[in-house]
Amino acid sequence: MPESAAVPLAAKSPFELRVHLGDDVPEQTVREALASGDMGFVHSFTTGSTVDGPGVRVVAWTTGCMWRCRYCHNPDTWTLSNGIPVSVAQAAQELGKYRHGLKVMSGGFTLSGGDPLMQHRFAIKLLTAAKQMNIHTTIETNGYYGDRVSDGELATIDLVMLGLKTWDPERHKALTGSEIGPTLEFARRLAALRRPLWIRFVLVPGLTDDMQDLAKTAEFTAGLGNVERVEVLPFHQLGGYKWERLGLDYTLRDVPAPTAALAAEACEVFRKAGLAAF
Ligand code: SF4
Repeated sequence: MPESAAVPLAAKSPFELRVHLGDDVPEQTVREALASGDMGFVHSFTTGSTVDGPGVRVVAWTTGCMWRCRYCHNPDTWTLSNGIPVSVAQAAQELGKYRHGLKVMSGGFTLSGGDPLMQHRFAIKLLTAAKQMNIHTTIETNGYYGDRVSDGELATIDLVMLGLKTWDPERHKALTGSEIGPTLEFARRLAALRRPLWIRFVLVPGLTDDMQDLAKTAEFTAGLGNVERVEVLPFHQLGGYKWERLGLDYTLRDVPAPTAALAAEACEVFRKAGLAAF
């Protein structure tokens, strides 16, 4: 199985631009990998995150995402073949290096991306390996492919962090290039199964700061009954340079980060609906 030796799995941050690291993997091998989950494509592993789940996290950033969010800060993760091809065993070995530290720091392992459910078989195998090491597991996902994962497989995920982007379906399509329906369906299913859920919302001035739209997102979120926490994430420009380097049309070049007052206002909308929002 081809594996990239030149670029290390570990990165200082997901804002490192990584491209073409899996280009040499034959198409047939990619198809087999996706079908079996024995091999996956990973942008990088990062350590010491305090913003990707409870406690201190090791995060694996998978490649592959079908959405095209206008504010995405990791567009190099859209393309599967930009990632490093790794076997489940190799990825589990990388994670295993940190297992004792994660326990001491009440942290865990987060599978992010990209969208990790693009490689759902690999994701479940890696999360299962993490559980076997007694490590708390989280995924960060847009939820679009939630129906690929069975109820039994969901049991390998201690916490789902689901991104809700905007409420209005047309606005959602314009913002992400995708339909909102499957994401909401996944959220409802997690609620029915009473699986722990955090909601993440990226606040972008002029794009996702319509408070009436936000109130509808909050109403839906509160109605689920299994949402432990809502995180309002202020838009930033850290990934902007990736768009330029990849030759993509970055439309948010001149958009500022939200003010503290705007972020507080957004949090308040969720709190008014009875949610714990930060
Ligand atoms: S779902 Fe996430 S990874 Fe995919 S385009 Fe949107 S922000 Fe980027």
